[in-house]
Amino acid sequence: MELLRVRGAERAALYQRADTLRQQIMGDAVFLRGIVEFSNVCGNDCHYCGIRAGNGGLRRYRLDDDEILAVARGMPALGLHTIVLQSGEAPSVSADRRLGRLIARIKRETPLAVTLSVGNRPRATYAYWRDCGMDRYLLRFETTDAALFARLHPDCDFAARIACLEHLRALGVQVGSGFMIGLPGETVETLARNIMLCRDLDLDMIGIGPFIAHPDTPLAGCRNAYADDPEMHFVALAVLRQFNPRAHIPATTAYDAVFREPPGRDLALRRGADVFMPNVTPLRHKNDYQLYPGKPGLDGEDHGVFAARMSRLGRPVASGPGHALRLVAAGTA
Ligand code: SAH
Repeated sequence: MELLRVRGAERAALYQRADTLRQQIMGDAVFLRGIVEFSNVCGNDCHYCGIRAGNGGLRRYRLDDDEILAVARGMPALGLHTIVLQSGEAPSVSADRRLGRLIARIKRETPLAVTLSVGNRPRATYAYWRDCGMDRYLLRFETTDAALFARLHPDCDFAARIACLEHLRALGVQVGSGFMIGLPGETVETLARNIMLCRDLDLDMIGIGPFIAHPDTPLAGCRNAYADDPEMHFVALAVLRQFNPRAHIPATTAYDAVFREPPGRDLALRRGADVFMPNVTPLRHKNDYQLYPGKPGLDGEDHGVFAARMSRLGRPVASGPGHALRLVAAGTA
């Protein structure tokens, strides 16, 4: 809490410490993960999310497997070694099987590491996907404020989500989680608890990003809790790095939606983050996957800009997927 409350020159010092720690432990190279938003079909009604079931204003889509494979095959040439498959949540036995077959095909036909980000599922489903070749899973806990979590998630409870993270870990899948910064009603104490939970979960990757109100959701018009002090989004990131020195921390897209010039993701990479996630979703669907307004890259290819950004930052791009240091140390990756 003390660190989160620093101001002025002390913030610059905090950023510097986070950047040095990132450099010493993760190195200078930026790790890349190409994200494919393969479907916006969703049965959940999370109050903040633009693709929630209750938003009738979207064209719902699902890429077919051949199209996803085509994107995957093109990724190594772009310097991308990990594919992140993200979607809304409309679980069915047949959809989960189909996803398993897709994972197996990607593993068979490309050298990519495969990450899924498709929400809460039973342990048996995670085990099946792992057997198909899934390497990693991303599932944010969103907030540690249990009452706030319950209010925002009519279809999901906090304990079940944490159990999902534990199942994934026990299955030997690399686990990423994280939270939104500045949900309406959150306090600095919530933020501190969020950071501490990341540490306690001993995560391989931690994604955090500013909450941005979407006009077609119940939170339309709600202000970010740090609207009067948006620098708090970087303070949170720098403190997160200090408490999780060995975790991969992405410069998430939402930073670009809040900070335009210099772009938020560039700043994040100098204040603790070590991962960049170019969006490689086919252009014609990007408009229909807006979790929040102001998402960058809707009119162009996100991966076209990262090379320029990296050279502006003077940072090389990693030549491999960057398996978790913990696993490398154990000799399993
Ligand atoms: N259905 C998957 C993927 C969700 S999208 C899942 O629930 O895991 C990935 C992340 O986007 C979410 O975990 C959430 O933290 C973030 N997100 C959603 N709506 C947002 C908003 N309005 N502002 C900022 N981040 C948002």
